[in-house]
Amino acid sequence: MKVAFFSTKPYDRRFFTEANSKYGHELHFIEARLTQNTSALAAGYPAICAFVNDELDAGVLIRLAKQGVKLIALRSAGFNNVDLTAAEELGLMVVRVPAYSPYAVAEHTLGLMLALNRKIHRAYNRVRDGNFSLEGFVGFDMRGKTVGIIGTGKIGRVMMKILNGIGCHILCYDPYPNDEAKQLGTYVDLPTLFQKSDIISLHCPLTPETHHIINSRALAQMKQGVMIINTSRGALIDTHAIIESIKSGQVGYLGLDVYEEEDDLFFKDLSGQVIQDDAFSRLLTFPNVLITGHQAFFTEEALHNIADTTLSNITEFEQSGTCKNIVTTEMIR
Ligand code: NAD
Repeated sequence: MKVAFFSTKPYDRRFFTEANSKYGHELHFIEARLTQNTSALAAGYPAICAFVNDELDAGVLIRLAKQGVKLIALRSAGFNNVDLTAAEELGLMVVRVPAYSPYAVAEHTLGLMLALNRKIHRAYNRVRDGNFSLEGFVGFDMRGKTVGIIGTGKIGRVMMKILNGIGCHILCYDPYPNDEAKQLGTYVDLPTLFQKSDIISLHCPLTPETHHIINSRALAQMKQGVMIINTSRGALIDTHAIIESIKSGQVGYLGLDVYEEEDDLFFKDLSGQVIQDDAFSRLLTFPNVLITGHQAFFTEEALHNIADTTLSNITEFEQSGTCKNIVTTEMIR
């Protein structure tokens, strides 16, 4: 099948070209992000492949459908960037990669926790500068601390196993509790999780219900000096509210792999430019904030699995007109 790949990076090209030797699709790699302005590049392609920051709102989907696109193959697990109602009305099938490596994301989450706790990001610079002072670097034992996990799906459960391994107590919240997580931690309501956790880690999808789940009301319920880690989706956190909580000391550590306005920033080299996002720039000034640019998924294993499942989804659609990894509006109700 002819597939137009938006937001292609050199690593996408490498992993998809390798995996495609098994599938034989006609892949056309496009560097541009999918937006209203670039949607015309999909003309003549029955399938497009998109990533997390491609725009798949109703306007873009209408243009794609008019140009003959039938399949939107997401090379991601999350699908919050797609207007699924519009896609269904237009007869566009949306498919995704539901799981490619929950380990990759959970292990990166642990990395953020440990780096923030033990100030590894600051120690790196200090030692390179010949400054071996330990002043300001006191951390805490993870063992015995209470970690609150919001969202006990695939990534949340791997996170719980890792944290059990280092002796943390685990509280969790999920509107759909599951048996495996019950063995790994204790389900509580959200206010209890906010009040009792030393560390809070977000592993739920971005939906209208979870948008700004960490807002000023939630922050006010938390322990003084709480650590918050978000490797899920940026808009789970109200950025302005958390900046105020860092300034007041209510939030003692913040680790982010995602940011609510990341579309204009992440996955690009902007090192020679002035960052226009003042809230993001303010976050960068805090010594107790550590940000990575949406790289939690970025392992060899995950990239291989993403490419393989995406191409397999396209083959399944081509052969049967449907796909086991379809995304429907039922999934957001
Ligand atoms: P999953 O579908 O296996 O688990 C999500 C869990 O969240 C489910 O158990 C669901 O019931 C729960 N949930 C739904 N609504 C909730 C709510 N209101 N409050 C609390 N929990 C709620 O998904 P997953 O594979 O574990 O991925 C989780 C999220 O991680 C994805 O949605 C995506 O946004 C993010 N992610 C980030 C990266 C990255 O590179 N940073 C990579 C992959 C996934």
